[in-house]
Amino acid sequence: MTATVEVHDDPFSLDIKRCYLPMVVHDNCPQCGAPHTRDIREDYLSYPSTNKCCPIGMYCEACDRSWAVNIKFGFTAQVLP
Ligand SMILES: [Zn+2]
Repeated sequence: MTATVEVHDDPFSLDIKRCYLPMVVHDNCPQCGAPHTRDIREDYLSYPSTNKCCPIGMYCEACDRSWAVNIKFGFTAQVLP
């Protein structure tokens, strides 16, 4: 029998207080339009969730304005040969 893996899409929390991920979020400030970047490789997320809305906080120092970029993390798994 060939091994298989079944991935379910139930939401779950990653129980990681300082979760660094290989991703970078880009967005423009909703007030002044300045481009902003949040590098999650260096600026961690706390207890992110998968398979549901996970807001990524952004901040514009020029406007003192905070906003969120809504991300949905997925989970994949595959059997390796
Ligand atoms: Zn701004």
